[in-house]
Amino acid sequence: MLQIQESNDEELVLKLWVGQSFVTALRHVIHGEVETMAIEDIVFEKNESQESNEFLSHHISNIVLSCTNIDSFIYKKQCACDNYCQHCSALFHLNVQNEQKSNVTIYSRHLKALNKTVYVTHMDTPLFTLKPGARVDATLIARKGCGDIHAKWRPATVVGFRRDLKVQLHPSITAEQFQSVAKGCPTKVFEDIEDIQSSKCIYCQRCIKQAQDMQLPDLVTIQDVPDYWIFNLESTGSMLPSQIFLAALRIMENRLIKMSEVLT
Ligand code: SF4
Ligand SMILES: [Zn+2]
Repeated sequence: MLQIQESNDEELVLKLWVGQSFVTALRHVIHGEVETMAIEDIVFEKNESQESNEFLSHHISNIVLSCTNIDSFIYKKQCACDNYCQHCSALFHLNVQNEQKSNVTIYSRHLKALNKTVYVTHMDTPLFTLKPGARVDATLIARKGCGDIHAKWRPATVVGFRRDLKVQLHPSITAEQFQSVAKGCPTKVFEDIEDIQSSKCIYCQRCIKQAQDMQLPDLVTIQDVPDYWIFNLESTGSMLPSQIFLAALRIMENRLIKMSEVLT
């Protein structure tokens, strides 16, 4: 069973009814195997910034890229070309010169994409500073990869899961006791006595401690719901969180299909 609790451009929160091994595998596949594009090589024609080629290469290669057709690219090691081609790579040019009288900052938006299907996700990432008259001219080569190769290909910043919990109040709780328990809850589980929001519970145990301090340890009980998980995923911006989740499921499905083919 799957229930969507939150889904937007940055975050996906789901309630999943699966075994722990499944959510563990899902997290591993998202971090390590879902494919994205990232800058892998940079060829400098000119670098008059105050940073070395190595420093700039490392910094720029962490820029998040989005790609609308990741399946149409092949890995560099599978390609017959010597360095790059349209099958394994997408190019960007960075050709900037400071014509002002003071220093200027160069941002990720200054990268010019030569392939319309691969583009910079966040336009306002500062890259470096140029002194008056200084110039940088470079070709950036983006390639397909996944997090198992290097973290810069990871599509998600956060992939987590926790047990779903059932928070219950003793039926005889008074309004005053309820207020005492509710005021310490950091995630607003007790906003409405008639509608306890158990899925928001992070098991900080403050309500339990409060009940114990009131000499009423049975006032609040919190129990695991077996095999129910709250699964959350935050994207780097390279893909929608829902796309990342579906891509991971497809990878797992394909692996199971291959295993069943071997066994039959
Ligand atoms: S354990 Fe913490 S988060 Fe959960 S209901 Fe109690 S106070 Fe709120
Ligand atoms: Zn190639």
